[in-house]
Amino acid sequence: MKTKGSCPLCDIKYHKKRRPTNHHVFPRMWYHGIGPLVEVCQDCHSQFNHDYPMRSVWSKAECLQNWSDFCKSKGKWMYKVYPHLKNIGLAHL
Ligand SMILES: [Zn+2]
Repeated sequence: MKTKGSCPLCDIKYHKKRRPTNHHVFPRMWYHGIGPLVEVCQDCHSQFNHDYPMRSVWSKAECLQNWSDFCKSKGKWMYKVYPHLKNIGLAHL
């Protein structure tokens, strides 16, 4: 697994204990693996899961909104970091 580069949200370099992960914007538990992936470090991924607990099913719009809000909390604009998310038909958000 690669450890080069850095997390696009926190800008911390990947290393053995901070590896890149893929976050399913539409969580697998509800959407069964369809939809876009976004790369983020393990630490940010864990923080997202903690800050946005998946207690009840989110609509796809809510999934995207929550990821956008999380990016903002890191000082990043989601569509700049992950331009491929513009193409999933919810770019008006
Ligand atoms: Zn990170």
